Amino acid sequence: MDLKQFVTVVPDYPKPGIQFKDITTLMDNGEAYKYATDQIVAYAREKQIDLVVGPEARGFIIGCPVAYSLGVGFAPVRKEGKLPREVVRVEYGLEYGKDVLTIHKDAIKPGQRVLITDDLLATGGTIEATIKLVEELGGVVAGIAFLIELSYLNGRRLLDGYDVLTLMKF
Ligand code: 5GP
Repeated sequence: MDLKQFVTVVPDYPKPGIQFKDITTLMDNGEAYKYATDQIVAYAREKQIDLVVGPEARGFIIGCPVAYSLGVGFAPVRKEGKLPREVVRVEYGLEYGKDVLTIHKDAIKPGQRVLITDDLLATGGTIEATIKLVEELGGVVAGIAFLIELSYLNGRRLLDGYDVLTLMKF
C-alpha cells in the first residue's frame, strides 16, 4: 500500500514556510492505519520488544496499537507536570528555547527491550530526548519506528547506532 497518498501536506502550518505533514487523514482510514501499524508490529516482533514508549501526543497514536497487538505494555513520555508520580526528566532544545520531557521512574525495568515510536522524525530532538529517558532507566533501545522521516532535516544523524524504521520519506 502506498501510504503517502493518505498524508495531507498542509502549506504554511503552523507558520509560513512549513509544509506540515498531517497524519490524521491516514489514521481515519481504517485500512491505512492498520497497514501502517502492522508494518511496525512486524518490525517490533523481529526486535523482540518488551515495552513500547512514545512521546505525547502522536507517539501514543502510533505506539499504543503496536503495544496492544504485541501484548506488551506502553509507557507514555509527557511534557513536564503531566505525569502524577515520580519522574525522570530531560531538557531538550527547540528552535526557540527549551522544553522538558518526563517519564515515570518505574516505567521501565532495567534490561527491557524498548521500541520507541513517534509519527514523524524531523530534527530528531524529541526522539534523542526520549532515548535519554529510556536509557537513564536502564532500558535497551532495541528499535525506533516512525511513520514519516523528513530526510532533508537529517534527524538520523542524532540516531547513529540505533536501529530505525520509517515507513515514508519526504
Ligand atoms: P523533531 O523533534 O524531530 O524536530 O520533531 C518531531 C516532533 O514534532 C514529532 O513529535 C512530531 O509529532 C512533530 N512534528 C514536527 N513536524 C511535523 C509535521 O510536519 N507533521 C507532524 N504530524 N508532526 C510534526
